[in-house]
Amino acid sequence: MNKAELLGRWTKEKSEELYGIKNWGAGYFSISDNGEVLVNPYKDNGPAAVSLMDIISGVRERGLDMPVLLRFENLLDSQISFLNNSFSEAMHKLNYKGEYRGVYPIKVNQQQQVVEEVTRFGQRYHHGLEVGSKAELVAALSVMKDKEACLICNGYKDEEFIDLGLYAVKMGFKCFFVIEIPGELDIVLERSRALGVKPNIGIRIKLSAKAGGHWTESGGDRSIFGLNMSQVISMVDTLKAEGMLESLKLLHYHLGSQIPNIRDIRSAVLEAARVYAELVKEGAPMGYLDLGGGLAVDYDGSNTNYTNSRNYSVEEYCMDIVEAVMTTLDSSDVPHPVIVTESGRTTVAYHSVLIFNVLDTEKFEEHDIPDKLDENTSEQIKNLFDVNKNITLKNIQECYNDALYYRDEIRDMFKHGRISLRERAFSERIFWNTINQIAKEKQKLKNAPPDLEDIESAIADIYYCNFSLFQSIPDSWAIDQLFPIMPLHRLLELPKRNAVIADITCDCDGKIDHFIDLHDVRSTLPLHEFKSDQDYYLGVFWWVHIRRHLGTFTIYLEIQILLA
Ligand SMILES: *Cc1c(COP(=O)(O)O)cnc(C)c1O
Repeated sequence: MNKAELLGRWTKEKSEELYGIKNWGAGYFSISDNGEVLVNPYKDNGPAAVSLMDIISGVRERGLDMPVLLRFENLLDSQISFLNNSFSEAMHKLNYKGEYRGVYPIKVNQQQQVVEEVTRFGQRYHHGLEVGSKAELVAALSVMKDKEACLICNGYKDEEFIDLGLYAVKMGFKCFFVIEIPGELDIVLERSRALGVKPNIGIRIKLSAKAGGHWTESGGDRSIFGLNMSQVISMVDTLKAEGMLESLKLLHYHLGSQIPNIRDIRSAVLEAARVYAELVKEGAPMGYLDLGGGLAVDYDGSNTNYTNSRNYSVEEYCMDIVEAVMTTLDSSDVPHPVIVTESGRTTVAYHSVLIFNVLDTEKFEEHDIPDKLDENTSEQIKNLFDVNKNITLKNIQECYNDALYYRDEIRDMFKHGRISLRERAFSERIFWNTINQIAKEKQKLKNAPPDLEDIESAIADIYYCNFSLFQSIPDSWAIDQLFPIMPLHRLLELPKRNAVIADITCDCDGKIDHFIDLHDVRSTLPLHEFKSDQDYYLGVFWWVHIRRHLGTFTIYLEIQILLA
């Protein structure tokens, strides 16, 4: 019995629990009474939810094929509002004297529509943009209208990049150059003299605070980007000597993405706020404290410091940051700065769903074997048979090792012509029956032996789909980020099969065999029986992380949806 069957008669509530939709759906996704996945861009207090299956019918009626990427603009809108409202509520509660100005890092999803939507929905909060290259700055300037919003320039800056940013300042934009490596300052000063424009300068610092998580390589003491404290002081001295200290207005750090633990976020803010206070003492005007990204998405919904999760809510994140900045600055009588964050993942997560249908399946067959063997069966097959008949909970690891050993021996014997094809086929049935039994026994164990960790995926069904894995979910293969995946319908029906998902557009390892589970990863996904005369749709609820300097190509059709 699989997990589903143990739960008894099937209901919508059981699907909710099995696929964890209430945990990761953040109120945006739910299951309808007729067993379909609903999207509700305004969570519970918005207009009626829409079934993804209705949207799929609409797509099909227009003669379009799967896979499709659905992007819900309203969800972007909701996430931007949520972040800004959470910060302003925290500031109001704690009586913070500064403001919040979020920026969206373009690299997270560079598509023009996404950037446009973010600036449009963000306008009422003066939500700005963060860029990391000249190309991104050009993109930002082509959509940005709000002169109150921040435009933060990170990344390597050459003369052209700097000139462009200086023109932006001249046009009235709050454009900041964040100095990430010591040499950049000289070019900024030189170009601003040449163009006669006063720059807004920021410093990116390296913190001693470190954070756990997948994407944290860009923070911390040893990170490539950012100045250490002695470089910060030399920069202050250079600015003083040039009479340009008045341009130093922003302090920046970026701890990394998807920081699962609030303690790491807090200790980074405390350290940065101290540096900020010291820069004010040095005589810099400052005014802006930019905490970078890192606000995590709870992919598995477990609310823990596990890497696919986070042990804090967005509200707590905001409260902790505002409070940490206040306590540090109040004790040295420094005015409260504008707090900037560069949340990418949280802004665009949820808003897109990749939808594909199952094309075919390969079922794992239950292999029946006889109770007794013929007298003249070869010795190795007899040995394999004995392993099969002696499986107990205590010896599954040993049986597993033995089964593999005898299987290999038998394959060898076949190669050397010592057994027939029929005998080899018979031995394979015994082998798979053995593996299946071991997998069943393993489920009774609390702590299974590490060798047997993925044994379920070996006996899982394979569901063949076309979803262009490598083009569309870079995180999944690159760093093992897991995304919620589930069927979009038939959710009042028991999902009897355990499956892995294979991508037919890729003949190598284009396979998903790690799925989110509460506090855990599982190697198969419970799915419904595939019927060849009926479409079966799955959705990946996801977010694309496009790495800076790394082009990504999408070959699926993308459909933008604005729900009324
Ligand atoms: C990638 C990146 C971000 C976005 O981080 P999230 O964790 O996705 O919010 C923010 N700032 C910088 C400098 C980045 O490189």
